[in-house]
Amino acid sequence: MAKGYIEFDYEFCKGCELCIQACPVNTLVLTTKMNKKGYRLVEDAEGKCTGCASCALVCPDAVITVYRQKKAS
Ligand code: SF4
Ligand code: SF4
Repeated sequence: MAKGYIEFDYEFCKGCELCIQACPVNTLVLTTKMNKKGYRLVEDAEGKCTGCASCALVCPDAVITVYRQKKAS
C-alpha cells in the first residue's frame, strides 16, 4: 500500500527517465505531456509510491520532492 507521494517541479525536468529506472515499485511512467522545453513528463501512474526517495536521489536536476505520508484528498 502506498505510503508516500511525490511532486515534480516539471519545468526543470529533462525527461531523462533516471527516476523511472530507480523506482523499486515501478510506479513511474513517462507520459505524453510535455513541459515548455518539450520534454516528456513523468508521473506516478500507479499511485504506488512508498516515499522511499530513490527517484529524488537520482534526479540530476532535483525536480522531485518526496512526501512520506498519504496525499490529502
Ligand atoms: S519515492 Fe520511491 S516509490 Fe515513490 S516514486 Fe520515487 S522511487 Fe518510486
Ligand atoms: S530523473 Fe528528474 S529530470 Fe530525469 S525524468 Fe525524472 S524527474 Fe525528470
